[in-house]
Amino acid sequence: MRPKVVHVRGSVYMIDASYHGRRGVLGTYVVKGEEVAVVDPGPTVSIDGLVEALRDLGIDLSDVRYVAPTHIHLDHAGGSWRLLELCPGARLYIHPKGAPHMVDPSRLEAAARRLFGDRVDEYGEVRGVSEERVTVSVDGEELDLGGGLRIRVVWTPGHASHHQSYYIPDGKVVILGDAGGIYNRDLDVVIPTSPPPFNPEKAMRSLEKLAALRPEIVCYGHFGFADDAVKRLRAHREQLALWMRVVEEGLKEGAGMGELYDRLRSEDPMLGRLPAPGHFGGRAIERSPSVNLLGFVEYFKWLWRGGR
Ligand SMILES: [Zn+2]
Repeated sequence: MRPKVVHVRGSVYMIDASYHGRRGVLGTYVVKGEEVAVVDPGPTVSIDGLVEALRDLGIDLSDVRYVAPTHIHLDHAGGSWRLLELCPGARLYIHPKGAPHMVDPSRLEAAARRLFGDRVDEYGEVRGVSEERVTVSVDGEELDLGGGLRIRVVWTPGHASHHQSYYIPDGKVVILGDAGGIYNRDLDVVIPTSPPPFNPEKAMRSLEKLAALRPEIVCYGHFGFADDAVKRLRAHREQLALWMRVVEEGLKEGAGMGELYDRLRSEDPMLGRLPAPGHFGGRAIERSPSVNLLGFVEYFKWLWRGGR
């Protein structure tokens, strides 16, 4: 299946490299100046398709300066090592909390296996990245791609403690990763992307931080991009607040997962628009509301044990 390349705005492009023949699983975003940044290269099995798409965009692999995952989860970053092999001038640009796990991915792989079982193997082989090729990010810093084109990194913890998003002032585009939920354009639905360990309080603050940049276009990791950026970021913040309230109340009343899900479904109109409970299209295992609900449940259990 040929990769699909879509122009987002200005210097930003989205690549759908396809994943085991499925489209619309992960959007890789390319910021193309004199030098190039590749945000969320995707899993190892998608890298060949990604490289083909970069060539379609007229990009010479030696011009790729940054391989920049939003976070280290394998569906976003698992293929970084392979792309770095193919792009000799590139550096891995990553949050300092994520960096050690890109150098030694053993704990990362084990964590993914606990959550998704052997399906993790579908992502392809994962190898460590040499420490000399890693640059750790600083919140708010700007990467210069030449010709006045800059990308600003914005730390956005919540989905993961080491999550970061990218803002491109030229074009007012924000590349969210998993900081803005899972988006389905056809259904016009966003739901939280909140498998445990998820921190909804941090995620809400991250959404405020992103909205304060006044972006015009939001680019979701899963999947696609949309306008009305500030409105969408605020709406998702409200949705997280709603899920928190429903889950907290429910847990205090002794509700189990099924009951919590039913309560959410009756209060959150987004869930009512899903075709069937538990499924969101694509890879149900990663996208099912139940694994995302579990992130909220685990958060409160952690909080009530005295976590902070
Ligand atoms: Zn993730």
